[in-house]
Amino acid sequence: MSTTSSSDSKTYCGYIAIVGRPNVGKSTLLNHLIGQKLSITSRKPQTTRHTLLGIKTEGDTQFIYVDTPGLHSNQGRAINRYMNRVAITALRDVDVVVFVIDRNVWTEADAEVAELLKSTSAPVILAVNKVDRLEDKNVLLPHLQWLGEQFGSAEIVPVSALNNTNLAALEASIRERLPEGIHFFSEDQITDRNERFLAAELVREKITRQLGDEVPYQVAVQIEEFKHERGVRHISALVLVEREGQKRILIGEKGSRLKSIGQQARLDMEELFDGKVMLNLWVKVRSGWSDDERALRSLGYTD
Ligand code: GDP
Ligand code: MG
Repeated sequence: MSTTSSSDSKTYCGYIAIVGRPNVGKSTLLNHLIGQKLSITSRKPQTTRHTLLGIKTEGDTQFIYVDTPGLHSNQGRAINRYMNRVAITALRDVDVVVFVIDRNVWTEADAEVAELLKSTSAPVILAVNKVDRLEDKNVLLPHLQWLGEQFGSAEIVPVSALNNTNLAALEASIRERLPEGIHFFSEDQITDRNERFLAAELVREKITRQLGDEVPYQVAVQIEEFKHERGVRHISALVLVEREGQKRILIGEKGSRLKSIGQQARLDMEELFDGKVMLNLWVKVRSGWSDDERALRSLGYTD
């Protein structure tokens, strides 16, 4: 008869919020910590609109990362108010906060996030990201010292999310701060979001990356059909824009732009879902969606 001892079967589990102003690399960090591309990223500041969980289970420990939209100072638009609510809510009830900043750059927006963090009782780890882009490494040390003075008890870890530099050290310091507890998700689950959601986000990412500054901000993606048949996912997505001119730009010369967006999105989906994807994209003008609370809710922007 075999016996199992319970004394050495302690497990650890907790929520880790990844916060910071837009564009510092929060979503990139989440993807590289998880080892899967879950959260969409781009050079444009408003890429992440929703909260998304990235789950990683390693031995006795389950890390539940919460990627948040950056905080927005323009509170005028409904979509910005929505993103701020989402980011602030994510700070409640987490066990660890990872505050991401960009090298030695410190802006008013970083200070606002720091101010917000005063209301959380969770331990804060500062991830000083993009160190690969530092031309003069000597500027980092005094900045780390300055940060140390500002954030008394916080641990500070310089990383490059993009190059996976020092992410193991960051993970180890998160691990030390996670409470003991049972795992909330099964071992193989990597996110709380379904494939429909992830598919829509990937289309939005390609649009954000391929188009000029003005268009992506006013684009929403709605999945109209998602069928899984004989190993193939058939997906139809409707892209909503605010104006006729944006629709023309998005479609491009003889449909070339939309085609290239669709191809790139499909390749990412096939990798993430590990299977073949047939993707159809449509573009429609629905003016006012980004500043209309009701339209936002109908597009899944609910909190
Ligand atoms: P978020 O708005 O904070 O979620 O930022 P994203 O993850 O979308 O990243 C914003 C931009 O910074 C993207 O172009 C990323 O490729 C880039 N980026 C993120 N992390 C790093 C890094 O460690 N090094 C460099 N050079 N670029 C990075
Ligand atoms: Mg992001």
